[in-house]
Amino acid sequence: MKLPQFELHRPNSVDGASQLLTELGDDASAYSGGTELLLAMKLGLIKSRHLVDLKPLAELRGIELRPGGVWIGAGVTHREIESSPAIRAVLPPLAGMASQIANVRVRAIGTIGGNLCFADPNSDPATLLSALGARLRARVNGESVEFSPEEFIEGPYQTLLRPGDLLLGVWIPALPAGSAAVHLRMKIHERPSVTVAALVGVTRGEVVAARLAVGSVGPKVLQVELGEELRGLSGVGFSTRVRSLMALLAGSIPLLPERPESPEYQRHLVRLLGARALEAGLEGARN
Ligand SMILES: Cc1cc2nc3c(=O)[nH]c(=O)nc-3n(C[C@H](O)[C@H](O)[C@H](O)COP(=O)(O)OP(=O)(O)OC[C@H]3O[C@@H](n4cnc5c(N)ncnc54)[C@H](O)[C@@H]3O)c2cc1C
Repeated sequence: MKLPQFELHRPNSVDGASQLLTELGDDASAYSGGTELLLAMKLGLIKSRHLVDLKPLAELRGIELRPGGVWIGAGVTHREIESSPAIRAVLPPLAGMASQIANVRVRAIGTIGGNLCFADPNSDPATLLSALGARLRARVNGESVEFSPEEFIEGPYQTLLRPGDLLLGVWIPALPAGSAAVHLRMKIHERPSVTVAALVGVTRGEVVAARLAVGSVGPKVLQVELGEELRGLSGVGFSTRVRSLMALLAGSIPLLPERPESPEYQRHLVRLLGARALEAGLEGARN
């Protein structure tokens, strides 16, 4: 596999990058870590003759602890997220999720922005970000706009960005008091086949809020609010209700066609991991 020739552009601002990408249109791609882009170019799946390098742009870098949450620039690598003291302190499940992505070589150059913009369904971040209620900030048509991960990713390898638009970063609210988040995945091949994430909130030992996100099996992340169904439950009552809810959800969730795993197996994994994530969320929120 040979990388086709391309011209590398190094703008010095997000505005400049966006302008270049708009002018060059379909003939250009934004270039962050290149772990997806360069491979897709080698395979002839992307035929960009111009790459606009986002790596040097300070505006897309940095992890900032702000009142109420954490801001992560689109150009931050998985490795930076995994090893950030701020994220480890405030959002440990996010650091844990990042540490499971690929291998250390990919994590050292692959960025959270590149992951979300490539929108490969077999990915981790969008699922956890959805459960955490994260907001993705993008420059769309020159305006700064916010989206949920479920809105941003429209389907496999498809986001709502158009030529010239850029993802700027991700805002993740801090975990509410008395809550815990859990991210689980099942990896059979190189990348996860099923990802689930739960956010469970508890008051005096009983559930007051619960959200589940399921990714990788379907065309996009599915987010479900389960607070009403699980409110006031704990112990065996919680487990029994979770199991019946997960059986319903796993039976009805849309699946991508032509996957190596059978639909039955995928539904089985969704049921199992979904129940485990919610139970672990309850356990974590109580401690
Ligand atoms: C061997 C291997 C294993 C992997 N395993 C996992 C895994 O277990 N879990 C998982 O989640 N992921 C996995 N990945 C995917 C990995 O997370 C991504 O490759 C990486 O995050 C992509 O980031 P990048 O900076 O390299 O993106 P790039 O390759 O630079 O870009 C990807 C796409 O996004 C666009 N883009 C990049 N940044 C922006 C931006 N700011 N605004 C607009 N468009 C942009 C590019 O134009 C391109 O289309 C794996 C990848 C490999 C190669």
